[in-house]
Amino acid sequence: MNLKTLELRDFRNYREVKLDFEPGVNLIVGDNAQGKTNLLEAISYLGSGRSFRAQKTAEMVRFGADFGEVSGTVFSQEREQNLRFVLFSGSRPRQIWRNGAKKKTAGEIAGVLPTVLFCPEDLMVLKTGASQRRRMGDQVLCGLRPNYDAALTEYNRILDQKSRILKDHFDNPSVLAILPEYNTRLCQVGALLISYRARFYESLGKSAAAFHSQFSGGVEDFTLDYKTVSTVTDPFAPVSQLTQELLDHLERHYRAELETAQCLTGPHKDDFTVCLSGIDLKSYGSQGQTRTAAISLKLAQRELMAREWGEEPVLLLDDVLSELDPGRQDFVLNQIVSGQVFITCCEPGRFTKLGKTIEISKGNVI
Ligand code: ATP
Ligand code: MG
Repeated sequence: MNLKTLELRDFRNYREVKLDFEPGVNLIVGDNAQGKTNLLEAISYLGSGRSFRAQKTAEMVRFGADFGEVSGTVFSQEREQNLRFVLFSGSRPRQIWRNGAKKKTAGEIAGVLPTVLFCPEDLMVLKTGASQRRRMGDQVLCGLRPNYDAALTEYNRILDQKSRILKDHFDNPSVLAILPEYNTRLCQVGALLISYRARFYESLGKSAAAFHSQFSGGVEDFTLDYKTVSTVTDPFAPVSQLTQELLDHLERHYRAELETAQCLTGPHKDDFTVCLSGIDLKSYGSQGQTRTAAISLKLAQRELMAREWGEEPVLLLDDVLSELDPGRQDFVLNQIVSGQVFITCCEPGRFTKLGKTIEISKGNVI
């Protein structure tokens, strides 16, 4: 699978460009703030309908424009396909098109252009807060399972509504009457998330362990543990059991949630830990160990997607190679000999010989 062409109109700092890519390595070179990450964002958005940096769709529309467009031709599933998004600066919902037919949800384009992004922040993801790890896991899982994506969206919507009830109840105690209904729904959808995550993290951990073992010469034993709500005894249990366990936990926190006006417990607090030979990386890992484990996790994400879709996902490396020492660079480059890769960097240096170079300046291709 590979992205053959990309057209941007009023997307971020691009007014109008059309690009052609190689099926192998594409090197995107330019000074700071010229639009390199914007280009990777466009590619990742085209494949998933999700941005890894924008909070709102409108942020991606070029300043001053009413709407923007991202479209591309992809060779995927043994044929040429066209994907197109139209984004609006106001509140109008975006449009999704696949091969000339309008689609309702991004789930309907899943698998056409799967991508995996790797950026410098990911190198430290095992040291940072849980929310970054959740975001990273969710991004991959959403790309693998459109139903998970839908459940996550619903969970977040219910969570927002529940937060509003908890905030409003001081002024208007009658809103509490609808709280049990929200809690039940939250636990039902939350149980579904836990069920998906348990399976996903199990496969991710296995695959990452294999990469880490190659990487460290078999010296360290990599293990990944999924952490969820403490009342959940087995995240692989049937969804009905998980729902009950979540409800039990919520009940115990009922008073505390009212007093703090916050949704204190649920899978929105989930996390995972990585241990090397039994030692928790978050607390004890060296910089090198943390980076190596993070790279193994990324390569594992790519492998899971390749297994799921039967084709290598497009790899997007944003500034990440220049952050790595030559040994780690070589490990990554040796693992990505197949499939399409986009690499951004300011100083191409030793990478120029890898493939096609595309030079970007102020939202234009030179
Ligand atoms: P660096 O090497 O520093 O990472 P970069 O080439 O990756 O730089 P980008 O992150 O792609 O740079 O951003 C390029 C420019 O795009 C920024 O200066 C930013 O102000 C601009 N930009 C972002 N969003 C919009 C928008 N909606 N409209 C116009 N310009 C935008
Ligand atoms: Mg950048």
